[in-house]
Amino acid sequence: MTAYSAPLRDMQFVISELAGLDSLATLPGYEEVTAELAGAVLEEAAKIAGEVLAPLNKLGDERGASLTKEGVVAAEGFGAAYRRFIDNGWNGLSGDPDYGGQGLPGLVAAAAAEMWNSANMSFALCPLLTAGAMEAIKAHASDELKSRYLPKLVSGEWSGTMNLTEPQAGSDLSAVRTRAVLEGDHYRISGQKMFITWGDHDMTENVVHLVLARLPDAPEGTRGISLFLVPKFLVGADGSLAGRNDVTCASIEHKLGIHASPTCVMSFGEKEGAIGYLVGRKNEGLAHMFTMMNEARQKVGIQGLGIAEGAYQAARDYAKERVQGRPVGQRSGDRVTIIHHPDVRRMLLTMKSQIEAMRAFGYVLAADIDLAHKRRDAAERQRHQARVDLLTPVLKGWCTELGVEIASMGVQVFGGMGYIEETGAAQYLRDARIATIYEGTTGIQAGDLVGRKLPTDNGRAMAALIGDMRAVEGQLGGADNVDFPAIRENLAAGTQALEQATQWMLQTIGTEPNAALGASVNYMMLTGYVCGGWQMARAALAARAQLTAGVDEDFYRAKIATARFYAEQILPKATALLTAVKSGASTALALEEEQF
Ligand SMILES: Cc1cc2nc3c(=O)[nH]c(=O)nc-3n(C[C@H](O)[C@H](O)[C@H](O)COP(=O)(O)OP(=O)(O)OC[C@H]3O[C@@H](n4cnc5c(N)ncnc54)[C@H](O)[C@@H]3O)c2cc1C
Repeated sequence: MTAYSAPLRDMQFVISELAGLDSLATLPGYEEVTAELAGAVLEEAAKIAGEVLAPLNKLGDERGASLTKEGVVAAEGFGAAYRRFIDNGWNGLSGDPDYGGQGLPGLVAAAAAEMWNSANMSFALCPLLTAGAMEAIKAHASDELKSRYLPKLVSGEWSGTMNLTEPQAGSDLSAVRTRAVLEGDHYRISGQKMFITWGDHDMTENVVHLVLARLPDAPEGTRGISLFLVPKFLVGADGSLAGRNDVTCASIEHKLGIHASPTCVMSFGEKEGAIGYLVGRKNEGLAHMFTMMNEARQKVGIQGLGIAEGAYQAARDYAKERVQGRPVGQRSGDRVTIIHHPDVRRMLLTMKSQIEAMRAFGYVLAADIDLAHKRRDAAERQRHQARVDLLTPVLKGWCTELGVEIASMGVQVFGGMGYIEETGAAQYLRDARIATIYEGTTGIQAGDLVGRKLPTDNGRAMAALIGDMRAVEGQLGGADNVDFPAIRENLAAGTQALEQATQWMLQTIGTEPNAALGASVNYMMLTGYVCGGWQMARAALAARAQLTAGVDEDFYRAKIATARFYAEQILPKATALLTAVKSGASTALALEEEQF
């Protein structure tokens, strides 16, 4: 069961009505971007998702990638699909035109990425990492490295990886041990990295690794880490491949999901040392790598959304086919499909409403990223950047946690068949599970939010966000039907919960950091639910405004009903989480280690 049909109507609604595509078109470089252009691009992105990537999803899961003497061989069909993907220019969709990219807004790229992740998350990971590598190289590498590597990465002829993790260095990268020793105009890198996504494969002629390593005289901890570019094949001055570098894939992991994405143990310098080039400044590699990690965190948040949408579509289609039981209160007559049962409706709308909330939240943040890069006024750029900084951990943490919950609910809608691999529902759940772990676990995202993002500006960016939510609340008044008062009431309660939880966090993080960090995941989830409610309220308002035109009424009425469901059934979680946040972590820390 791998059919996937992109939710283009909702995507276009969010892009135009909520994320403000029109205002992006006023930015330098985006002058040509119109709703029609974005719509045409997304239709084509939907085709490659539905016709090329989705049909490979199950096959990739069953057969996976394999390791041979020559290196990693991608799962069957993936090489041809990748070729088509890059030949059509998808890899460089939002890439820099100076290096051959198409220069479209990240907002459009986020929508395309959602589709590719829904259709085939394993496949989508390869361009996801390449995009992060491109950003880090563009931001920090020398002009020579940029001109040598970026055009091929932008086109997708070469792919990029992120080499952080080592056996003793997972969440804590200060423990990185891989070494780099200067030799003429380059370095020799030696060490072992683990869990490297698409660390080796045969879909591209070269793989460009961004590697964290230590110089011999480097200080201990995170301040002694540098960033290096280490290609699988060395590259001559004219751009041609000039022989194999000393970097190999030692093994690939057997794992719960994303079987077609090879997760590699990478050996650097088993012989003479892998040749690598310093990116940015010595000992500032972790800060440089954060360019790639932030980009990847935003994209993994979108991955949570994408996988949830795939799971939802499968569940919805099954619920319309599976006949079981009769309507409530009827003992005879025709049996009905399970979508007629109120509890199945609850599950489907729980999935759908949260997906629409995540989509709106994720795309609006993608537009903020575009605005933070491109607005002419420096103060405005800074304002958008402050929001991006604040909400990146929420996008990553909340959307991936919901991705797992929604994929699990998808299995529930299928009943027993959901647990059987044949239907594909279980694959969504297995694939979704990694997204809360890599690119920094949920706990690490929450720690970043309360330990760094909130205190850095003493809560100013959060206060501005709450102000924007209150402004929407004000617009929800004066409605003549029952939907809008319910949306307003619940958004008001959610916003108040966010404000109170934020005050508690700001007071507590300095004085009782254990209590604040113990409550941090609840706070992060609270923030996510309220951000989702804020965007769904905006969506309801936009739908109400459009309804007067008399076209597409079904879509707009469904949007308002879905926003109300979210407000009534999902948003109250924020108030419950506030109670949990304010009770701190004293109980979590009450037991001694031996009592566990
Ligand atoms: C399939 C897959 C693909 C991956 N791809 C890549 C890749 O391409 N490149 C790469 O470099 N790495 C990659 N990783 C590694 C991944 O980023 C790490 O697994 C992840 O960061 C967690 O590190 P860890 O596994 O060492 O867990 P640990 O750090 O040991 O964490 C274990 C638990 O402790 C918690 N914890 C640890 N420290 C803290 C703390 N300070 N505060 C609160 N909680 C904490 C964590 O939240 C987690 O619940 C991948 C991993 C997998 C499984």
